[in-house]
Amino acid sequence: MKFSMKSIVTFAESRIARLAMSYLAIIMIMSIGFSVVFYNTSSNELGRKLPPPSFFSKYQDNAPTGYRIYVNERVEQGREHLFTNLILLNFLALVAGSYLSYLLAERTLEPIEQALEAQARFASDASHELRTPLAAIQTENEVALRKEHLSEERARELLQSNVEEVKKLRELAEGLLRLAREDSSELAMKSLAVSDITTEAMNRVIKIAQLKDVEITEAVPAKLHMIGDQPSLVQVVSVLLDNAIKYSHEKQHIYITAEEQGGFACISIRDEGRGIAPEHLPKIFDRFYRADSARSSQDTSGYGLGLSIAYKIIKQHGGTISVTSALGHGSTFTIKLPLAPEA
Ligand code: ADP
Repeated sequence: MKFSMKSIVTFAESRIARLAMSYLAIIMIMSIGFSVVFYNTSSNELGRKLPPPSFFSKYQDNAPTGYRIYVNERVEQGREHLFTNLILLNFLALVAGSYLSYLLAERTLEPIEQALEAQARFASDASHELRTPLAAIQTENEVALRKEHLSEERARELLQSNVEEVKKLRELAEGLLRLAREDSSELAMKSLAVSDITTEAMNRVIKIAQLKDVEITEAVPAKLHMIGDQPSLVQVVSVLLDNAIKYSHEKQHIYITAEEQGGFACISIRDEGRGIAPEHLPKIFDRFYRADSARSSQDTSGYGLGLSIAYKIIKQHGGTISVTSALGHGSTFTIKLPLAPEA
């Protein structure tokens, strides 16, 4: 491994290095502090005042002074050994502490770095998506402004198109806001009739379905109740129905069914539309993800946010959302939410 001066400086400036150094400083302060106290106590103990020479006479009649000199030398040697051992111990604490501090700092910072990265990716994805409609509005208006005469009809067309783009931007901003809100405390959880949620969502999308001559059949038992936040769950079912219509062909059918399954209310939305290729399936709940066919198709507007919002809401409810699909034959989205306790 080659260490250049630049890479060492970059490492020293990195968050991990700074945190590791703080941990190491704490370890070293404790180790050195402990060593100083230990040295002083032991050294005082070793150097305890010796009794007068007369005291030794009962042990060493002939050479009390020599014995004292020998004892003093032993004490001095003991001090030196103690000192060297403590230096060695602190050196070991420094080496092992550096390694441990680095591991600890890396562990502490990993989730924070991941969160920062996700935030940066979110901001960059969002600005990327905002650029397209903004560029469309700008170009259309600039072209119109360059014309010397603008007929009333053309001006109306332009305004109409601007309003459409602004509507899309508003939808995008609302979607982003919903995704950015981490807090689930705003959810007003209560017992809800599953049929109320599906019917309300159906009413929201019925006009778009009629435009495409797509029929929606709802078969939801009236007694089935679940726990959840009404507006959020209506939003989830609307997203799924809206997609089912968007990715269905004209005159096709959509089925909404629900049943009880092991303590959960399972709501399924099945369409007979274009389906999703297996390679796209694992990614469709990702933010801004759109299968290529959806991106290139003229009639399927969207930003790839609907399913990620639905996923997030269902997760906040402690439920699950899953999909099965066959390309060219249709898709079934199933959400599972905790059942409401019997009244
Ligand atoms: P959007 O529909 O705005 O593109 P979504 O997050 O709702 O965004 O969906 C992500 C992608 O999943 C879509 O672009 C589409 O490719 C695919 N998808 C979702 N629902 C269906 C469906 N019912 N049938 C086929 N493809 C679907």
